[in-house]
Amino acid sequence: MSKNNMKEEISCCCHDNQTIFLDKAIKQLGLNTDQKQLLLHSFREISVQIPLKVGGGEITHTFTGYRVQHNHARGPFKGGLRYHPDVQIDEIRALAQLMTWKTALVDIPFGGAKGGISVDPSLLSIEELETLTRRFVQKMEPVLGVNEDIPAPDVNTNPQVMAWFFDEYSKTNGSVPGIVTGKPIELGGLKGRLEATGYGVAYITSLALEQINIPLKGAKVVIQGFGNVGSYAALRLQAMGASIVGISDKDGGLFDAEGIDIKAAAQFAQKTGGLKGFFEGKLISNVALLALPCDVLIPAALEGTVHCDTEADVKAKLIIEAANMPITHMADDKLRKRGVTIVPDILANAGGVIASYFEWVQNIQRFEWQRSVVQERMEEHLSRAYKDVVALAKETDVDLRTAAYQVSVSRVLRAIELRGF
Ligand code: GLU
Repeated sequence: MSKNNMKEEISCCCHDNQTIFLDKAIKQLGLNTDQKQLLLHSFREISVQIPLKVGGGEITHTFTGYRVQHNHARGPFKGGLRYHPDVQIDEIRALAQLMTWKTALVDIPFGGAKGGISVDPSLLSIEELETLTRRFVQKMEPVLGVNEDIPAPDVNTNPQVMAWFFDEYSKTNGSVPGIVTGKPIELGGLKGRLEATGYGVAYITSLALEQINIPLKGAKVVIQGFGNVGSYAALRLQAMGASIVGISDKDGGLFDAEGIDIKAAAQFAQKTGGLKGFFEGKLISNVALLALPCDVLIPAALEGTVHCDTEADVKAKLIIEAANMPITHMADDKLRKRGVTIVPDILANAGGVIASYFEWVQNIQRFEWQRSVVQERMEEHLSRAYKDVVALAKETDVDLRTAAYQVSVSRVLRAIELRGF
């Protein structure tokens, strides 16, 4: 594939992939065009301009921030807020829709939304980042609310960003910790929320391995991306007995056929901000990482990393989508034809938003949840969703993604019918 075609495949991946994946479920369910339009379109899309003095006050740069609220038939809008230079409206729109299907699939009382600011946070000082966040909250405040729209961390945002968010919102609304989830524990955050997405990924991996008769103990796992999701998934899977043979971040990857010491890697990354300089194992590129011999591949970085040019080299029998939309629809088709099992994002990484739901409940009730309860109840939600998806996939003879979309779409449509939108 030429470089241009490849770029097109990845950049169109967000909106087109979503529509193509959704179309398959819509066909299966026998829905009409009006129902499809109802499901596809966002409820509301907002973009704001945020001027900010950067570089020690020398230059004023104007950043663009977005919030897309896709659907709220099943409950308030819910979804993360990401800071990344590639953030643009099409991507946020697709990710917002993905959240609607995710919350419906794991049966929590939320709809779907997503937000973001087009910014490289590594180029800003901590003070600039705080001001940027607070100005974003000020501008979005009219459409947010504990029963309206509840943001959470996503790519390059963390509990500190959520703390600023909560504080800024509370200036004009009284103390409302439930306005945002993924907060620091000291401010009403949930014990176990930080690890939840990664731990959920590990749990789903264990269910899927059992399904395809590969023992978890000794299974060789490669994880692309070593941020919050990838690192906690790696730690948990290693603790469960898997051998993590490959990990990577934006600077490149490490390979060790004997298994990498993930605790040491996580400590190193925590201290230095990344894996660069963690010299254990063989250094490889991110593309080479995808081609490593392994049982399980876990893309936990950004959208579209597995595309037509990287798909053919994938040797894993199982792919767990820890990132949102990491596989383009073309690559998805080819991988499935080769017999690779793919557990879709809306199931694989739903542990995070399930824990967010518990945090929201904890904040509304002003009553603290215990870590062990969080973990147990998160696994209950994931296990129920996993069983629903596998059963429907068998019954209707479709892949796991199409089955997952069918479950979600049916639930959202039913809520729409009952409410009479
Ligand atoms: N950003 C996460 C996701 O994509 C979590 C969203 C949330 O907790 O609201 O699922």
